[in-house]
Amino acid sequence: MSKETGEIIVLGTGTSHGVPVVGCKCPTCLSEHPRNQRTRSSILVQAPQGNFIIDTTPEMRIQLIRETVDLVHAAVFTHSHADHIYGLDDLRQFGHLLDQDIPLYCEENVAEQLKQAFSYAFVPSENNKRRGAIPRFELKPITTNPLELLGLPLQPIRLMHGKLPIFGYRFANVAYCTDVSEIPPSSWPLLENLDVLIIDALRYREHPTHFNIAQALEVIEKVCPRQAYLTHIAHDIEHEKASESLPENVSLAWDGLRIPFDY
Ligand SMILES: [Zn+2]
Ligand SMILES: [Zn+2]
Ligand SMILES: [Zn+2]
Repeated sequence: MSKETGEIIVLGTGTSHGVPVVGCKCPTCLSEHPRNQRTRSSILVQAPQGNFIIDTTPEMRIQLIRETVDLVHAAVFTHSHADHIYGLDDLRQFGHLLDQDIPLYCEENVAEQLKQAFSYAFVPSENNKRRGAIPRFELKPITTNPLELLGLPLQPIRLMHGKLPIFGYRFANVAYCTDVSEIPPSSWPLLENLDVLIIDALRYREHPTHFNIAQALEVIEKVCPRQAYLTHIAHDIEHEKASESLPENVSLAWDGLRIPFDY
């Protein structure tokens, strides 16, 4: 039986400041190499029945235009830090185009944060009733139980982001694990037999809430994906220089990278 193939579009690979960092004159920030230009971290997944996005960064609209993505049917969130949620309003467009509520899959605590940060979307007010102004969203609280999204099984993976429990996600033989500094014992089995692992590797030095490159490489060595990509990258890391010293099955991800995967 022939397998169907989808595609992941890596929309952004930068840390919370993005790269270049405003006002910074370091070699990476001054570099004109396109792979040293990193918008905030997010991916788009082409599933059998539509596209879902993991996290809605402040640059989401620009990312979708850059990659000529015409429709997003659903969003999934890893956690509620600013660099992962503040593009949410721009999903408004798709609710109106599709004439349906856009489901937002996230943990209960993330749903609460979204309701606070985007109260106008969830609590309609008298002066904000105009069609087009109010996004059509439906919060879909999730747990560690697997779910099905747009025809693709989706498995949340508990990760620790410093002391904050957050979610990574596995679909088919792909795992997306951003903003992680520790993988709890119960999550390791969910990372077995991967074709593709996309994992946080902030910088060279250690950090309290993110893996650095050395720690990400340790995880990669342990789970042995066919190919690994590093993401959520700070300006300490210059693309060409860092790429020289990575193992053969590991590369830095970059904005606009497209990764095919089997359903
Ligand atoms: Zn982040
Ligand atoms: Zn810099
Ligand atoms: Zn974070």
